[in-house]
Amino acid sequence: MNIAVYPGTFDPFTNGHRDLVQRAASNIFDKVYICVVENSNKNTVFSLEERVVLAKKSLENIKNIEVIPFSGLLVDFATKLNAKVILRGLRVVSDFEYEFQMSSMNKKLNNNIESIFLTPSESYAFLSSSLVKEIAQLGGDVSTFVNEDVKKALERKYK
Ligand code: ADP
Repeated sequence: MNIAVYPGTFDPFTNGHRDLVQRAASNIFDKVYICVVENSNKNTVFSLEERVVLAKKSLENIKNIEVIPFSGLLVDFATKLNAKVILRGLRVVSDFEYEFQMSSMNKKLNNNIESIFLTPSESYAFLSSSLVKEIAQLGGDVSTFVNEDVKKALERKYK
């Protein structure tokens, strides 16, 4: 079995995240675990439970995936799940430095796990959770960026 973990804050889950998972799960891996990070340094707008629920809703219809909350060291969590690959998205150049640092560190922690990067479809290349939150907060329409449940959840947060 070719298993990958896709870790992230997902605050909230966007169509860009979905695009990545969809292509990874249908074309590359037998199973993709979407690991929603609990102990993020970021102050999240949505709670861990909310982020998990919204990720699940956004990924309905995609098979061979599972959304799970996680805290602790990613390489240990991946090992427990029998995953040999950490999947991450690379959008613009600004993602590169941080991702490079993270993958080097993860390799030092566990040399048996590889990081693999996918680039999103062009239409999602500039999409980020923070941008979506900013637009929602200003009352803008986010329906092309997130699924319906996420949109409603954002409206509730910012009303
Ligand atoms: P983190 O706090 O771990 O960066 P995010 O939820 O912001 O969590 O992102 C999780 C992963 O998804 C990261 O690898 C990020 O680069 C990727 N990602 C985020 N938005 C997009 C997008 N629009 N297209 C492709 N990948 C994305």
